[in-house]
Amino acid sequence: MPHPGSWYGLPEVSTDSPLWTDEETVSVSPSTIEVLSKCPLRWMVERHGGEDPAQLASITGTLVHALAQAAASGVERLELQVRLDQAWAAVDAGAPWFSRRERNRVQKMLDTFMAWFERSRSELTQVAVERDLSVQVPRQADGPWLRVRGRVDRLEVDEQGRPVVVDIKTGKQPVSRDDAQEHPQLAVYQLATQLGAFEELGLSEEPGGARLLYVSKEDKKTGAAERVQAPLDPDSSKVWLATVQEAASSCVGPEYTATESPDCPRCPARTSCPLHESGRQVGE
Ligand code: SF4
Repeated sequence: MPHPGSWYGLPEVSTDSPLWTDEETVSVSPSTIEVLSKCPLRWMVERHGGEDPAQLASITGTLVHALAQAAASGVERLELQVRLDQAWAAVDAGAPWFSRRERNRVQKMLDTFMAWFERSRSELTQVAVERDLSVQVPRQADGPWLRVRGRVDRLEVDEQGRPVVVDIKTGKQPVSRDDAQEHPQLAVYQLATQLGAFEELGLSEEPGGARLLYVSKEDKKTGAAERVQAPLDPDSSKVWLATVQEAASSCVGPEYTATESPDCPRCPARTSCPLHESGRQVGE
Protein backbone atom coordinates (compact mmCIF):
# COMPACT_ATOMS: atom_id res chain seq x y z
CA MET A 1 0.00 0.00 0.00
CA PRO A 2 1.61 3.29 -1.06
CA HIS A 3 1.77 6.07 1.49
CA PRO A 4 -1.29 8.36 1.23
CA GLY A 5 1.12 11.23 0.46
CA SER A 6 1.77 9.59 -2.93
CA TRP A 7 -1.89 8.91 -3.82
CA TYR A 8 -2.93 10.15 -7.23
CA GLY A 9 -5.32 13.11 -7.25
CA LEU A 10 -4.91 13.87 -3.57
CA PRO A 11 -5.95 17.52 -3.01
CA GLU A 12 -4.45 19.89 -0.47
CA VAL A 13 -5.57 19.42 3.10
CA SER A 14 -8.76 21.52 3.41
CA THR A 15 -8.13 22.54 7.03
CA ASP A 16 -5.67 21.90 9.80
CA SER A 17 -7.98 23.21 12.53
CA PRO A 18 -9.02 20.87 15.32
CA LEU A 19 -12.72 19.97 15.68
CA TRP A 20 -12.86 21.79 19.01
CA THR A 21 -11.04 24.93 20.12
CA ASP A 22 -9.32 25.15 23.53
CA GLU A 23 -12.31 27.02 24.96
CA GLU A 24 -14.93 24.57 23.75
CA THR A 25 -16.13 21.53 25.68
CA VAL A 26 -15.72 18.13 24.04
CA SER A 27 -18.78 15.91 24.39
CA VAL A 28 -18.40 12.17 24.29
CA SER A 29 -21.11 9.56 24.75
CA PRO A 30 -20.69 6.35 26.76
CA SER A 31 -21.21 4.30 23.59
CA THR A 32 -18.45 6.07 21.63
CA ILE A 33 -15.73 5.68 24.27
CA GLU A 34 -15.02 2.15 23.10
CA VAL A 35 -14.69 3.16 19.42
CA LEU A 36 -12.50 6.14 20.33
CA SER A 37 -10.28 4.05 22.58
CA LYS A 38 -9.78 1.47 19.86
CA CYS A 39 -9.47 3.65 16.74
CA PRO A 40 -9.90 7.44 16.63
CA LEU A 41 -9.95 7.41 12.80
CA ARG A 42 -12.96 5.09 12.77
CA TRP A 43 -14.76 7.38 15.22
CA MET A 44 -14.05 10.43 13.05
CA VAL A 45 -15.24 8.82 9.80
CA GLU A 46 -18.38 7.34 11.39
CA ARG A 47 -19.26 10.60 13.08
CA HIS A 48 -19.03 12.47 9.80
CA GLY A 49 -21.31 10.36 7.65
CA GLY A 50 -19.23 7.23 7.23
CA GLU A 51 -21.61 4.92 9.07
CA ASP A 52 -23.44 2.21 7.21
CA PRO A 53 -26.85 3.41 6.05
CA ALA A 54 -29.81 2.40 8.23
CA GLN A 55 -29.86 -1.35 8.33
CA LEU A 56 -32.80 -3.53 9.25
CA ALA A 57 -30.95 -4.50 12.45
CA SER A 58 -30.86 -0.89 13.61
CA ILE A 59 -34.53 -0.36 12.68
CA THR A 60 -35.63 -3.42 14.64
CA GLY A 61 -33.35 -2.35 17.50
CA THR A 62 -35.04 1.06 17.68
CA LEU A 63 -38.46 -0.58 17.55
CA VAL A 64 -37.65 -3.04 20.34
CA HIS A 65 -36.34 -0.21 22.54
CA ALA A 66 -39.53 1.84 21.95
CA LEU A 67 -41.82 -1.12 22.67
CA ALA A 68 -39.85 -2.16 25.75
CA GLN A 69 -40.13 1.40 27.05
CA ALA A 70 -43.89 1.36 26.42
CA ALA A 71 -44.24 -2.04 28.11
CA ALA A 72 -42.30 -0.89 31.18
CA SER A 73 -44.52 2.19 31.35
CA GLY A 74 -47.59 -0.02 31.71
CA VAL A 75 -48.93 -0.25 28.16
CA GLU A 76 -51.07 -3.41 27.86
CA ARG A 77 -49.96 -6.41 25.82
CA LEU A 78 -52.79 -6.02 23.26
CA GLU A 79 -51.90 -2.39 22.66
CA LEU A 80 -48.23 -3.34 22.25
CA GLN A 81 -49.25 -5.79 19.51
CA VAL A 82 -51.17 -3.04 17.72
CA ARG A 83 -48.19 -0.68 17.95
CA LEU A 84 -45.83 -3.36 16.68
CA ASP A 85 -48.09 -4.17 13.72
CA GLN A 86 -48.48 -0.49 12.85
CA ALA A 87 -44.74 0.14 13.03
CA TRP A 88 -43.89 -3.03 11.12
CA ALA A 89 -46.25 -2.08 8.25
CA ALA A 90 -43.93 0.88 7.57
CA VAL A 91 -40.76 -1.23 7.55
CA ASP A 92 -39.39 -2.52 4.28
CA ALA A 93 -38.00 -5.84 5.48
CA GLY A 94 -37.74 -7.48 2.05
CA ALA A 95 -39.36 -10.77 1.05
CA PRO A 96 -42.66 -11.59 2.86
CA TRP A 97 -41.24 -14.74 4.48
CA PHE A 98 -38.24 -12.80 5.78
CA SER A 99 -40.40 -9.91 6.96
CA ARG A 100 -42.67 -12.34 8.88
CA ARG A 101 -39.68 -13.98 10.50
CA GLU A 102 -38.18 -10.65 11.54
CA ARG A 103 -41.49 -9.39 12.90
CA ASN A 104 -41.79 -12.55 14.99
CA ARG A 105 -38.25 -12.02 16.22
CA VAL A 106 -39.18 -8.51 17.40
CA GLN A 107 -42.24 -9.98 19.14
CA LYS A 108 -40.06 -12.60 20.82
CA MET A 109 -37.58 -9.98 22.03
CA LEU A 110 -40.45 -7.99 23.51
CA ASP A 111 -41.77 -11.11 25.30
CA THR A 112 -38.27 -11.84 26.61
CA PHE A 113 -37.94 -8.28 27.87
CA MET A 114 -41.29 -8.57 29.67
CA ALA A 115 -40.20 -11.84 31.29
CA TRP A 116 -37.02 -10.15 32.54
CA PHE A 117 -38.94 -7.07 33.67
CA GLU A 118 -41.36 -9.10 35.80
CA ARG A 119 -38.66 -11.24 37.40
CA SER A 120 -36.21 -8.43 38.09
CA ARG A 121 -38.68 -6.36 40.14
CA SER A 122 -37.70 -8.25 43.29
CA GLU A 123 -34.21 -6.70 43.13
CA LEU A 124 -34.55 -3.59 40.96
CA THR A 125 -36.93 -0.63 41.04
CA GLN A 126 -37.49 1.44 37.93
CA VAL A 127 -36.64 5.13 38.25
CA ALA A 128 -36.68 6.26 34.61
CA VAL A 129 -36.60 5.01 31.03
CA GLU A 130 -34.80 6.69 28.11
CA ARG A 131 -33.24 9.16 30.52
CA ASP A 132 -30.79 11.79 29.20
CA LEU A 133 -27.56 12.24 31.08
CA SER A 134 -25.05 15.06 30.85
CA VAL A 135 -22.22 15.45 33.30
CA GLN A 136 -19.01 17.46 33.49
CA VAL A 137 -15.87 15.33 33.75
CA PRO A 138 -12.62 16.63 35.32
CA ARG A 139 -10.14 17.52 32.56
CA GLN A 140 -6.52 16.44 32.33
CA ALA A 141 -3.96 19.22 32.75
CA ASP A 142 -3.35 19.43 28.97
CA GLY A 143 -6.64 17.89 27.90
CA PRO A 144 -9.88 19.47 26.67
CA TRP A 145 -12.87 20.54 28.75
CA LEU A 146 -15.00 17.48 28.78
CA ARG A 147 -18.58 16.38 29.22
CA VAL A 148 -20.19 12.95 28.96
CA ARG A 149 -23.59 13.09 27.30
CA GLY A 150 -25.87 10.24 26.46
CA ARG A 151 -29.13 8.51 27.15
CA VAL A 152 -29.67 5.49 29.34
CA ASP A 153 -32.24 2.89 28.31
CA ARG A 154 -33.26 2.11 31.86
CA LEU A 155 -32.32 3.65 35.19
CA GLU A 156 -33.11 1.50 38.20
CA VAL A 157 -32.12 1.39 41.84
CA ASP A 158 -31.05 -1.79 43.58
CA GLU A 159 -32.14 -2.98 47.01
CA GLN A 160 -29.60 -0.65 48.63
CA GLY A 161 -30.93 2.34 46.72
CA ARG A 162 -27.88 2.56 44.44
CA PRO A 163 -28.41 3.56 40.78
CA VAL A 164 -28.07 0.76 38.22
CA VAL A 165 -28.09 1.57 34.51
CA VAL A 166 -29.49 -1.21 32.32
CA ASP A 167 -28.59 -1.07 28.63
CA ILE A 168 -30.86 -3.07 26.31
CA LYS A 169 -29.07 -4.95 23.53
CA THR A 170 -30.80 -6.57 20.55
CA GLY A 171 -27.68 -8.23 19.13
CA LYS A 172 -27.64 -12.00 19.06
CA GLN A 173 -24.34 -12.67 20.78
CA PRO A 174 -23.89 -11.55 24.40
CA VAL A 175 -20.39 -10.53 25.48
CA SER A 176 -18.71 -12.92 27.91
CA ARG A 177 -19.22 -12.41 31.65
CA ASP A 178 -15.56 -11.45 31.99
CA ASP A 179 -15.76 -8.93 29.14
CA ALA A 180 -18.81 -7.35 30.78
CA GLN A 181 -16.59 -6.40 33.74
CA GLU A 182 -14.45 -4.36 31.35
CA HIS A 183 -17.28 -3.09 29.14
CA PRO A 184 -16.50 0.60 28.44
CA GLN A 185 -20.09 1.75 27.96
CA LEU A 186 -21.22 0.28 31.29
CA ALA A 187 -18.14 1.64 33.06
CA VAL A 188 -18.78 5.15 31.73
CA TYR A 189 -22.38 4.96 32.94
CA GLN A 190 -21.04 4.10 36.37
CA LEU A 191 -18.45 6.87 36.22
CA ALA A 192 -21.17 9.35 35.24
CA THR A 193 -23.21 8.17 38.22
CA GLN A 194 -20.25 8.84 40.52
CA LEU A 195 -19.90 12.31 39.01
CA GLY A 196 -23.49 13.13 39.93
CA ALA A 197 -25.35 12.41 36.67
CA PHE A 198 -28.52 11.38 38.53
CA GLU A 199 -28.18 13.75 41.47
CA GLU A 200 -31.23 15.77 40.45
CA LEU A 201 -33.34 12.63 40.82
CA GLY A 202 -32.16 12.42 44.43
CA LEU A 203 -30.09 9.30 43.69
CA SER A 204 -26.85 8.33 45.36
CA GLU A 205 -23.48 8.86 43.64
CA GLU A 206 -22.52 5.33 44.58
CA PRO A 207 -23.43 3.04 41.67
CA GLY A 208 -24.80 -0.45 42.18
CA GLY A 209 -23.08 -1.69 39.03
CA ALA A 210 -24.50 -1.64 35.50
CA ARG A 211 -26.00 -4.29 33.24
CA LEU A 212 -26.36 -5.32 29.63
CA LEU A 213 -29.69 -6.95 28.88
CA TYR A 214 -29.80 -9.21 25.80
CA VAL A 215 -33.47 -9.45 24.87
CA SER A 216 -32.72 -11.79 21.95
CA LYS A 217 -31.54 -14.47 24.35
CA GLU A 218 -33.88 -16.12 26.82
CA ASP A 219 -32.65 -17.19 30.23
CA LYS A 220 -34.57 -19.68 32.36
CA LYS A 221 -33.74 -17.90 35.59
CA THR A 222 -33.70 -14.19 34.73
CA GLY A 223 -36.00 -14.16 31.68
CA ALA A 224 -33.37 -12.54 29.42
CA ALA A 225 -29.60 -12.98 29.40
CA GLU A 226 -27.93 -10.39 31.62
CA ARG A 227 -24.30 -9.40 31.76
CA VAL A 228 -23.50 -7.63 34.98
CA GLN A 229 -20.66 -5.24 35.70
CA ALA A 230 -19.82 -5.00 39.40
CA PRO A 231 -19.78 -1.56 41.06
CA LEU A 232 -16.60 0.39 40.26
CA ASP A 233 -14.09 0.53 43.09
CA PRO A 234 -11.84 3.59 43.62
CA ASP A 235 -9.01 2.11 41.52
CA SER A 236 -11.20 1.14 38.57
CA SER A 237 -12.88 4.58 38.72
CA LYS A 238 -9.47 6.22 38.26
CA VAL A 239 -8.65 3.95 35.32
CA TRP A 240 -11.97 4.67 33.58
CA LEU A 241 -11.67 8.40 34.24
CA ALA A 242 -8.28 8.35 32.49
CA THR A 243 -9.79 6.31 29.63
CA VAL A 244 -12.53 8.91 29.09
CA GLN A 245 -10.04 11.78 29.27
CA GLU A 246 -7.74 10.13 26.74
CA ALA A 247 -10.68 9.33 24.45
CA ALA A 248 -11.73 12.99 24.56
CA SER A 249 -8.19 14.15 23.73
CA SER A 250 -8.00 11.73 20.80
CA CYS A 251 -11.13 13.14 19.14
CA VAL A 252 -10.06 16.78 19.14
CA GLY A 253 -7.96 16.43 15.98
CA PRO A 254 -6.88 17.63 13.49
CA GLU A 255 -5.04 14.30 13.21
CA TYR A 256 -6.68 10.94 13.86
CA THR A 257 -4.72 7.79 14.41
CA ALA A 258 -5.75 4.60 12.58
CA THR A 259 -5.22 1.71 14.99
CA GLU A 260 -5.46 -1.82 13.61
CA SER A 261 -7.53 -4.28 15.64
CA PRO A 262 -9.59 -7.46 15.21
CA ASP A 263 -12.57 -5.16 14.47
CA CYS A 264 -11.02 -3.90 11.21
CA PRO A 265 -12.72 -6.50 8.92
CA ARG A 266 -16.15 -5.21 10.04
CA CYS A 267 -15.22 -1.51 10.14
CA PRO A 268 -17.47 0.75 7.99
CA ALA A 269 -14.54 3.19 7.65
CA ARG A 270 -12.33 0.54 6.05
CA THR A 271 -12.63 1.98 2.54
CA SER A 272 -11.27 5.29 3.86
CA CYS A 273 -8.51 3.72 5.91
CA PRO A 274 -4.87 4.02 4.83
CA LEU A 275 -3.98 0.84 6.72
CA HIS A 276 -5.99 -1.43 4.42
CA GLU A 277 -5.90 -2.46 0.81
CA SER A 278 -9.60 -1.66 0.43
CA GLY A 279 -8.88 1.98 1.37
CA ARG A 280 -9.55 3.60 -1.98
CA GLN A 281 -7.41 6.36 -3.42
CA VAL A 282 -8.97 9.71 -4.34
CA GLY A 283 -9.80 9.50 -8.06
CA GLU A 284 -10.62 5.79 -8.05
S1 SF4 B 1 -10.17 -0.39 9.33
FE1 SF4 B 1 -9.25 -0.64 11.40
S2 SF4 B 1 -7.58 0.86 11.47
FE2 SF4 B 1 -8.87 1.42 9.74
S3 SF4 B 1 -10.34 2.95 10.55
FE3 SF4 B 1 -11.33 0.93 10.74
S4 SF4 B 1 -10.83 0.20 12.79
FE4 SF4 B 1 -9.40 1.87 12.32
